[in-house]
Amino acid sequence: MGINNLRKEIEEVTTEIFKLVGKRFTLAREIAKQKREKGLPIEDVYTERKLKEAILKVCESYGIDLDFGLRLLNLLIEESKTIQRNIIREGGKEKTGFFAPYEVFAEAKKLERLGKRLIHLEVGEPDFGPPIAVKEALIEALKNNYVHYTETGGILQLREKIASVVNERFHADITPEQVIVTPGGRFAVYLCVSSMLSSGDEAIIFEPAWPAYKDCIRTAQAKASIIPSKIESSWEPDLNALANHVSKLTKLIILNNPNNPTGKIFTSDTLKQIVEIARENDIFILSDEVYSNFAFKPFKSILEFSNCKYILIDSFSKTFGMTGFRIGYAISDVDTIKRMTKIQNLCLTSVPEFIQYAAMKALDCADEAKKYAEIIEERVRFLCNALDKMLVSYIKPDGGFYVFSKLSDENMDTQTFVKSLLTEKGVCVTPGTAFGEEYSNFFRIAACQPKELLQEAMRKIGELLK
Ligand code: PMP
Repeated sequence: MGINNLRKEIEEVTTEIFKLVGKRFTLAREIAKQKREKGLPIEDVYTERKLKEAILKVCESYGIDLDFGLRLLNLLIEESKTIQRNIIREGGKEKTGFFAPYEVFAEAKKLERLGKRLIHLEVGEPDFGPPIAVKEALIEALKNNYVHYTETGGILQLREKIASVVNERFHADITPEQVIVTPGGRFAVYLCVSSMLSSGDEAIIFEPAWPAYKDCIRTAQAKASIIPSKIESSWEPDLNALANHVSKLTKLIILNNPNNPTGKIFTSDTLKQIVEIARENDIFILSDEVYSNFAFKPFKSILEFSNCKYILIDSFSKTFGMTGFRIGYAISDVDTIKRMTKIQNLCLTSVPEFIQYAAMKALDCADEAKKYAEIIEERVRFLCNALDKMLVSYIKPDGGFYVFSKLSDENMDTQTFVKSLLTEKGVCVTPGTAFGEEYSNFFRIAACQPKELLQEAMRKIGELLK
């Protein structure tokens, strides 16, 4: 066959492929409607696995590279899920007036604009603010005219200090070249995910989880491979499922210790097993440790495990009450930090110089950080005691800012509860679906308000959950 005929045929085949893709999306829409009617979750690990096995066989028979086959399949599956999510979200709005957590927050803002007083237990933003010395250092930095661009990865003095603090705390051997200073932990997560994952790659997340991980993975056109944990198993991760979820395309396992929202801290033994699986399969671990200052039980950092490829993420937001400063950092091997630095350079050049000087001062404020941790621990205890008298179940947090509770009344869905709590009682909490589809009976309370407000809020929650 001549080249022109071959080209014509390739055009026909490609057109055919796209027609079939269109048909696949129409089917996904139909499935979404049925899932919405039957209240079924979007994620369906069993069906996905069956499909994957079938496609691998096709790849083998037709001589298609398995990596390519899986990548393409992941793209199709992720697109179908986006279609399903949109359709189910539209339906949810019609049914309950609320669906996604952001709609709850939008409603809260609307009520406040109308003059209603609300108690905010939905955001993980500590009320205490930064230590006085940090504010003074910020003013001093401005007076010294530290108002310029800096090295993209952060000023050397700050990176040296971060390295020295973590080395002392975790008996590690980190050099300043292994540190990148970022505008908050959130951006560090974004840099990590976008420098590690390409389209069709996979990253494993244990849910319930902070939603930004999944959002970053989707932005990278990669697939979030989700392993749900259960309250009945005290939020222990399912390590057999982890071994089963690992594929040739898995590039990252994401851990969050202590966890947002459950407060779970993985034991050293559990971490050891996860590190082992990651090592055997040459996978990086993203270890988000932004709540590590708020550990009520022994805490192990990923830095304490040898021979493990990791990216540690930490932030000044929680430890030093510096959410509005927007500063955090990541630690990894030099090459990974270089790749993250390239993307940061493209996006924002550097974190503002005066903010970096303020952060440097924060690292001298260990006493204040300790005091903040004691305040949060006492508040979390108070929340637990109050919840003990209500129709909810929860696992006592090992650390973090939050209590993640399940409504005991199976007939009451959290959307309705969260809505009533907001509109009737003026208390705002986060619905469980923010942290994974499985958690529609859960809600999260943050211990970031003064005790008197927490008392008032818990009394009001108690009135609805008697
Ligand atoms: N990781 C987790 C688990 C979080 O909950 C948050 C904030 N809510 C962050 C990272 C990022 O915080 P920041 O960007 O303020 O450092």
